[in-house]
Amino acid sequence: MANPPITRADFDRYMVPTYAPAPDVLVRGSGSRVWGQSGREYIDLAGGIAVNVLGHAHPRLVDALAAQSERLWHVSNAYATEPAIALARSLVERTFADRVFLTNSGGEANEAALKLARRHASDRHGEGKHEIISFTRSFHGRTLFTVSVGGTPAYTEGFGPLPGGITHLPFNDADALGDAMSERTCAVMMEPVQGEGGLVAAEPSFAHRVRELCTAHDALLVLDEVQSGVGRTGSLYAYQDMGITPDILTTAKGLGGGFPIGAMLTTDEVAQSFAVGTHGSTFGGNPMAAAVALEVLAVVADPAFLADVRRKADLLSERLRQIGAASGAWAEVRGRGLWQGVVLSGPWAGRSTDLATAAFEAGVLTLKAGADVLRLAPALDIPDGDLDEGLGRLADALRR
Ligand code: PLP
Repeated sequence: MANPPITRADFDRYMVPTYAPAPDVLVRGSGSRVWGQSGREYIDLAGGIAVNVLGHAHPRLVDALAAQSERLWHVSNAYATEPAIALARSLVERTFADRVFLTNSGGEANEAALKLARRHASDRHGEGKHEIISFTRSFHGRTLFTVSVGGTPAYTEGFGPLPGGITHLPFNDADALGDAMSERTCAVMMEPVQGEGGLVAAEPSFAHRVRELCTAHDALLVLDEVQSGVGRTGSLYAYQDMGITPDILTTAKGLGGGFPIGAMLTTDEVAQSFAVGTHGSTFGGNPMAAAVALEVLAVVADPAFLADVRRKADLLSERLRQIGAASGAWAEVRGRGLWQGVVLSGPWAGRSTDLATAAFEAGVLTLKAGADVLRLAPALDIPDGDLDEGLGRLADALRR
């Protein structure tokens, strides 16, 4: 007997209830459009939470994946593979880093970064230097360590006992950081722009002070570029526009353009604290994921491509300002590149879920970043016409 068709109701029947997805089942995507079982078509301004940097089914990514799928799927990290080495080399050539550790996700890249920072401090100074400083409203993943470093207390509730030695400070408060740092601080972890926290950018003076303080206290600066990286802000990595260099950088999301992969990048010196056997992953750097990521980087790192991201970003923020002015739903548009949030105000304050639901009904996929911010993270190569039409549908949703 044939299996019965899959329905949206089956989601509620079979899945652990961690999510409450929209009332359609998405079945196909092409460029910046996706289609549901219902037959409806949606314009994707969410990009799979800032992941699909080249939209859906980009021909170069499809070709890279298809070619690799016929060569080698998986051998584990007990054996070296060409795609993993090529990806590491590509990341090193394009960034500050000398060494790369490949993972499957952003949370795992951050877990590796935090463990490396602790290990490095322990190697050089002993176990007393173990304090990790991060910022309120930051987000670094859902493993127990990364969620504890993240700055949203609700996400650690009921999961104790939590890892210790973690201090949370207000973001963009250089004095608080100066007061808190000491010889016990082993690392400061921060996002260049807090994504889940509502598109709040590190102020340039704050970012420079963080770097200075880390250097002065022999602490590592860990930049979490899981959401900001891979062209999202208009440069390959956001730090490249900020005039600071991290000791460790994490990247994921956009790196695989929709195929799960992450990476932790660091210097030769810091990397030496991860010897053979200190840390590992069965799937990290899987040949299929690495082959796709290599192609993503080749497309996105092109200066002409990044210049076009910045041009589209201006269109996006300008149009969002116009819609805000016409609807009165928001006065503030913030973010960087093709990664913008509108801060809902007046009667719209706190209603990002309602607006995202109305947007879905109007045929456009959007994201929330807290109750007050609707976030957009479209494909970096979204056609201008799709961007315009998607925003038109968002304006319709507001009118409704
Ligand atoms: N770090 C940042 C800045 C993120 O935005 C996210 C995901 O939203 C993560 C880490 C976690 O990445 P993943 O969900 O791939 O584990």
